[in-house]
Formats: sequence, structure tokens, C-alpha cells
Amino acid sequence: MMHHVIVSGLGPAGATLLYELASRGYDVVGIDRERFPRYKSCGGCISTKIDTIEGLDISHLIETPVYGAIFSYRQTRYVDILSDEPVGYNVKREVFDNYLVERARKAGATVVEGCKVEDFVEGSHHIEVICEGGRTFRAEFFVCADGAGSLVARKHFSLNPREFGISCTMEIPTSEEETEKMLGALFIDFGEVPHGYAWIFPKKGLLSVGMAGESKRCRGRLRGDFEKFLKNHRVLAGKALNGKVHGWMLPIYHSDGHPVIRPRAMAIGDAAHLVDPFLGEGIYYAIASARVAGEALVEAIEKNTTGFAPYREYLRRKLYPEFRALVKLSDLVYGHPRLWYRMVEKEPAIMLRYYDVIRGRESAQEFYRWVLSKVTRKPWKLLRSWLEDRFLSTG
Ligand SMILES: Cc1cc2nc3c(=O)[nH]c(=O)nc-3n(C[C@H](O)[C@H](O)[C@H](O)COP(=O)(O)OP(=O)(O)OC[C@H]3O[C@@H](n4cnc5c(N)ncnc54)[C@H](O)[C@@H]3O)c2cc1C
Repeated sequence: MMHHVIVSGLGPAGATLLYELASRGYDVVGIDRERFPRYKSCGGCISTKIDTIEGLDISHLIETPVYGAIFSYRQTRYVDILSDEPVGYNVKREVFDNYLVERARKAGATVVEGCKVEDFVEGSHHIEVICEGGRTFRAEFFVCADGAGSLVARKHFSLNPREFGISCTMEIPTSEEETEKMLGALFIDFGEVPHGYAWIFPKKGLLSVGMAGESKRCRGRLRGDFEKFLKNHRVLAGKALNGKVHGWMLPIYHSDGHPVIRPRAMAIGDAAHLVDPFLGEGIYYAIASARVAGEALVEAIEKNTTGFAPYREYLRRKLYPEFRALVKLSDLVYGHPRLWYRMVEKEPAIMLRYYDVIRGRESAQEFYRWVLSKVTRKPWKLLRSWLEDRFLSTG
């Protein structure tokens, strides 16, 4: 049987795309190797940019709105930087992702669970998708949305583990009364892990704790750094820290180019390296990329075209320039976490302005230019001389 589109992976990217197409009457099949609801290692904080996604109401899935963070440097100094308006929303991923899959199913999509996609073969008029055990599906188009562990994206779309962030997470149950007092703020610590940060995201009766850093610099030491963080952060004092530690990957954007489009197939979400390289935000980008991919697929089906121009343009003109600015920002911040911490401690307005980037009200490119000009005007001597070496001389 020939379908319009087959989607591999039903996280936020795949499930959103499935819904977009099924609700317009297209014959779509979504395949996931897991059965829903399923666990996903994640902080579960979605930026308020999600509110700009038309037709997606997540208000009933929000555990708590987030107004900012309590930042620390190696768990020694702490500064509260909270804003009057939400920056993000905390959700439980198993609940959030399950909702998106059910929404797609109700819209008429076929959902195949417990089936692992292994490869695809692209012909000039159709695509054959090959699953574990030799089961196959045929469609006009294929979308790879099966995340950071995707073998298909490694083979066909240059998903590159050498450019990943790596992470450790633990869920620590606690009393609702305790988290009640913390709700509204995240805890973010700089400096304990190379080129990354550690976090505690409070949910009702639960602390989602994690640490992530660049794989090249953290491999072999992340677990030890994570244990140190668990032992030393003031919020975790006296807690039983014997939960399961989950390790997972963050396919952050990097600047080497990401071929994610073939004539009849494309990758979206994590499988396309669409994770913000500064904070590791990926849920919004998974959903946003799926929406644009949906438009591109409708055009391809209706006009019998290939190559997905709207998606290509979205990446090239909108997303990648922002991500490139965030690569520079993360070099600046994670290269000198102590100096960065001092800057935001002294001038919380820097972070408050960054919250507007997270909200999607200001571009990362503008923010980066502003921080750079600030740094060169202020007496942050060490940082300034480093910047002159690394950035200003090359423009
Ligand atoms: C520790 C950690 C913390 C994070 N915290 C945040 C955060 O707070 N906020 C935020 O915005 N982002 C966060 N992220 C990033 C976020 O989790 C991802 O960007 C997001 O889940 C990407 O969605 P996706 O749909 O592309 O992929 P995924 O959510 O990974 O979904 C992929 C799906 O594909 C399925 N699959 C995998 N292989 C196959 C296969 N071979 N065949 C069929 N199905 C398959 C999986 O079962 C899964 O359901 C975090 C990531 C990590 C690792």
C-alpha cells in the first residue's frame, strides 16, 4: 500500500508532523520503536516561543510556568534572576509526548508502536522504509524524526555524534510542599562541567536534575562531575540521591553544515541537529521544524515537486543564523564561565535581556552583538583580551 508520508519517530517533531498532515486529510503513518507513554531523558522546560505555534494549546500540560533562574557558579555563589513574565513552561515529557501522539492519532494518522525503523531506499517516485524484522512501508515521502540516536540520520543525513552534547539526568522525588516553594524558578550552575551547565528543574513533587556538556570535552568525566554537583548543590542537601542516572545525547547545532534534505526524504528535530547550542533547547525547534516540514510536504504532494524548498529556506534564513550566533555566545560563556557568572551577577539585566531571546522577542544575533559591545566597553579585562584574540581580530 502506498501512503503519502511515513514518519520515523514520534517525539515532539514526528508527532507534530503527523498531526499536521493527518488533520489536512493526508494518509500518514508514524512509526516509533517505543510504546507510549514512554520516558524521555529531558529537563522538560519549553520556552514560551511555543505560544507562537498556531493551533497548539499546551496549557493543560504545564506543570508550572518558569519566570527565570537562580544561577550559581560551582554551587558556591548564587544569584536570583527572575522576571515578571514567564520565560518557559515545565512539562513532564512522558505526558507531553503522549498527548502529541494521541492528538495525531485522533486526527486520523496511523500510529505503529514498538517497531524500529532501520533504513530507507529512495526511488525516483517513492520511498521504501525498512523496519526491524524486514517489515516494510511505502510512501511518496519519508521524514526522519527519530532523534539523537537515529541510525537512519547518521547514515543518510550527517547526524554526527562527534558534535553532540552528552548528559546525565536523575529524577529525585520530593514533597509537593518543598517544590511548591521553588516553583517558578530553575536552578542553573555554570563551571562544574566543561562547555555546559548543570540544572535542577523543579516540578510538582519532583526535581529533574541534570548536567550536559560538549562530548569532546566531557567524555570520561561527566559522571564524576555530576556526582559532585549532586553532593554540593544546596537544594539537594539531605536528599536520597540513589535514583537511576540516565545518559543521553544532545545533537546541538554546529557550524559544519547539516545536509538534512534529500529529494524525497528529510530530517527534522534532533535527527537534524536542531538543538540550540547554548542552552540545549530542542523541544520548541522539534515542533517548529515539523510545522515547516508539514508545509513543505503539502507543497510536494500537491505540486508533485521534490527538494522541500520551504523547509530548506526556513533553515537557511531563519534558524541557522540564530544558531550560529548561539554557537559564538556559548564559546564566550562556557569558555569563561566564572567571568560570565560575575557579569550576570553584577548586571542581571544581561540575563533578563537573554530571557527575551528565549521568548523569541529578540534575536540571538542582536543579543550577541550587544553582549560583545558591552564586554568591550566594560572593564572585564581578562574576558576582553580573550575576545580580542578570539573574535574581534577576525570580525
Ligand atoms: C538531558 C537532556 C535534557 C534536555 N532538556 C531540555 C529542555 O529542558 N528543554 C528543551 O526544549 N529541550 C531539552 N532537551 C532536548 C529535547 O529533549 C530534544 O531536543 C527533543 O526531545 C527533540 O524531539 P524529537 O522529536 O526530535 O526527538 P525525540 O524526542 O528524541 O523523539 C524521537 C523518537 O524516535 C523514536 N525512535 C528512536 N529510534 C527509532 C527508530 N530506529 N525507529 C523508530 N523510532 C525510533 C524514539 O523512541 C522517540 O520517541 C534535552 C535533552 C536532553 C538529552
